[in-house]
Amino acid sequence: MAIEKVRNWQLGRDMDYPYEEARPKKQYAAVFNINKCIACQTCTMACKSTWTYSKGQEHMWWNNVETKPYGGYPQFWDHKLLEKLGPNKWSPGTGHYGSVYSGKTIFEAAPLTEVGVGYLPEDKEWQSPNIYEDTPTSTNPEKGPDNSVDLETTGGGGRGGAHTTWFFYLQRICNHCTHPACLAACPRKAIYKRQDSDGIVLIDQKRCRGYRKCVELCPYKKPMYNLATRISEKCIACYPRVEQGIEARCMAACVGKIRLQGLKNSLPEDAEQNAENPMNYLIHVRKIAVPLYPQYGTEPNIYYIPPRWIHKKFLYQMFGPGIDEALKVYENMDEELLGVLSLFRSTRKIIERFNINSNQAIGYDAKDHELIRVPIDEPVIVRPPRYHNTS
Ligand code: SF4
Ligand code: SF4
Ligand code: SF4
Repeated sequence: MAIEKVRNWQLGRDMDYPYEEARPKKQYAAVFNINKCIACQTCTMACKSTWTYSKGQEHMWWNNVETKPYGGYPQFWDHKLLEKLGPNKWSPGTGHYGSVYSGKTIFEAAPLTEVGVGYLPEDKEWQSPNIYEDTPTSTNPEKGPDNSVDLETTGGGGRGGAHTTWFFYLQRICNHCTHPACLAACPRKAIYKRQDSDGIVLIDQKRCRGYRKCVELCPYKKPMYNLATRISEKCIACYPRVEQGIEARCMAACVGKIRLQGLKNSLPEDAEQNAENPMNYLIHVRKIAVPLYPQYGTEPNIYYIPPRWIHKKFLYQMFGPGIDEALKVYENMDEELLGVLSLFRSTRKIIERFNINSNQAIGYDAKDHELIRVPIDEPVIVRPPRYHNTS
């Protein structure tokens, strides 16, 4: 198979990929604030009750929320690949996060006859989507998770420090990657990325023959095999809603208000020119949200505000070298940033542009119509004692 060089700005370098670089005009993207998720699974059920309630889809959860470090759907999905991929090496450089990835991506680590490094989960690994729910791990406060490296920590608790005992929730959907592994793996060319509109990655259900090569190569294990129809399916980014300017079901349903979805520019330099777009602003300008396992090399488009209380070494492995800056920005919030974060779940319409004015965050749609106006600092109102529950 021919190998092309494509740009991967998350890695700070070009990388091998089986197809030419093809970036969409606009890219479906989302920011998830891990610090606020309560693992209520409303997002999970919103997706399930919309798209995967039919025969053959019983074990299919296009959106899932798992407890890290032990939880996973399918079980061990990330551990297994990290072991196969080898060291997660970053060197100082001119990349977006001040680093260049010097390890191998899943495409570059491929054996000669394969497109990339992957594996097919066993059936039993799909059966317990919320295994190890709320199960913490414990870490020596003086040492890292592997008990070998000192960490920046105030020790056990306290604001700004990593906790001795910890877990966190990881919200997962298909990343609608810029260089999708599922698409690269498909021998039927049944998977495509929408170039003209939103970069959403879809499986053509008529072309798919159920070879499961996408299931094998997707590093995030988000294509799933339907035992009844014998073809593969995956998150469709709720494209019928997105086409109408409405956010996806799992986003709009989020109880913890941790999710904001939109359409961003695909390259950082274009995003910086369009900084009033909330996705561009959070991901590219303020760098408060970072990609999940960027070292895999697919340039995923779901971004995370990392959790503040977790040991840095674990976060570094999971989110790459952008975590230091992301945490610093999150812990030193200014009015503009707080305003954009206040827009999370203020409307189910996609916010194309924001403006901060007189203590208000204002969101506009793609036609520049005002969608929503929210106060940044909400006034505190003390009720007079005549109300029976105030004294
Ligand atoms: S609905 Fe929101 S708060 Fe609840 S589990 Fe999903 S992402 Fe977390
Ligand atoms: S997350 Fe997996 S299924 Fe989704 S686009 Fe990326 S490689 Fe494909
Ligand atoms: S974007 Fe839509 S299809 Fe994808 S996980 Fe969320 S609700 Fe499900």
